[in-house]
Amino acid sequence: MAHHQILIVGGGAAGLTVASQLKRARPGLEIAILEPSPDHYYQPGWTLVGAGVFSLEQTRRAEADLIPEGVRWIRAAAASFDPAAGTVASSDGETLHYDALVVATGIKLCWDRIKGLPEALGSQGITSNYSKNLVDYTWQTIQAFSGGNAIFTFPDTPIKCAGAPQKIMYLADDVFKRSPAVAAATKVIFATATPGIFGIPTFAEPLRQVVARRGIEPRYQHTLKEVRAASKEAVFAVKDGDTVREEVLPFGMLHVTPPMAAPDVVATSPLAVAGPGGWVDVDKFTTQHVRHPNVFSLGDVSSLPNSKTAAAVRGQAPVLVANLLAHLDGQPLAARYDGYACCPLITGYGRVIMAEFNYDGQPVPSFPLDPTQERWSMWVVKKDVLPWIYWNRMLKGYQHERRFMPGVAH
Ligand code: FAD
Repeated sequence: MAHHQILIVGGGAAGLTVASQLKRARPGLEIAILEPSPDHYYQPGWTLVGAGVFSLEQTRRAEADLIPEGVRWIRAAAASFDPAAGTVASSDGETLHYDALVVATGIKLCWDRIKGLPEALGSQGITSNYSKNLVDYTWQTIQAFSGGNAIFTFPDTPIKCAGAPQKIMYLADDVFKRSPAVAAATKVIFATATPGIFGIPTFAEPLRQVVARRGIEPRYQHTLKEVRAASKEAVFAVKDGDTVREEVLPFGMLHVTPPMAAPDVVATSPLAVAGPGGWVDVDKFTTQHVRHPNVFSLGDVSSLPNSKTAAAVRGQAPVLVANLLAHLDGQPLAARYDGYACCPLITGYGRVIMAEFNYDGQPVPSFPLDPTQERWSMWVVKKDVLPWIYWNRMLKGYQHERRFMPGVAH
């Protein structure tokens, strides 16, 4: 029966960042990361893989090379949580005790909530940048597309990187427009369950202009329910006031963003919020669990009510680390997370609106520039600077650039 001072469940963007920051703050801490995957991917790069800018391999690193020195890596998954006993059961059958627990398992992609989708993915122009197994197929599909409806969907649940479903749409539209014949034969449709283009008003307005300029047809309150691969039809439930009607749209290409939720092992545990999603129930300012004071959570699996992005993790991690150390010391939890998140909204090849905002939906730009403008400079930041910061600074626990660019991660 193993005991760890700090047990981190999930060695992704959040788990690795927290482990590194903790080790920098207190090298003597005894920390273990429970993580089953041999590889870690820079998921924010997948939009650019799907658009032929990066290869998938450029977004991959061996997990072993990212585990901070002095941290124990347990290559297994969490099978269950027992916060009352202060234990996590691993998929290897081990019971792991902890003084403090950090839950950072990321999000579950619920492909099977859409009828006909799991078996159709990767064929007939049906794809998704949300799976590493499909990003190359997205690029093949965009290049081979010769006309018809190109439909890009957005589901009726919280998702990671809420901008990603439309970023790939703008990039695809650029490619379609390179051929006048394809452009003339194509209708690009953004079919979203949401009532508007983007949840933050400051950035919704410029996006509405991008959609109008490109001639893209937004269809709001459209939730994808079924994919008929053989006949290449997408079936939507469309909210119309108090009623819901069915709409069937033919497609030549379908980019699906699936519904998302916390992984089952979290959602069915005593750590979960009551209600949909099953996220880890934490205080939105301190990241501490609301019922179990020695449990903290951040990243996509947490109930933190902001945009689920790696950039948000960069804002959350120092707060969690400061509060977790205060908890171990028996001190009050003083650090507070302001909801910082960032979504570099790619609006075409060479153009990005760097959307950074807080819990109040207020812009919090890291650069002294109007953040609502599409910029080539922000494309360079997205494509070249942010991946470098991710691998060399964020995952290694450095925060120095926050002095110059307070929230920059992605
Ligand atoms: P992850 O990084 O997904 O890590 C979760 C880890 O937990 C994984 O390693 C997994 O193997 C592990 N795990 C799962 N279950 C268990 C278990 N039972 N036991 C132990 N370990 C487990 N963010 C941005 O900031 N900017 C962007 O432009 C951006 N674009 C995106 C585009 C796409 C297409 C996608 C898919 C994501 C994008 N994101 C972007 C979102 C970003 O990648 C995530 O928000 C970020 O990775 C969240 O970090 P995390 O640690 O919570 O989850």
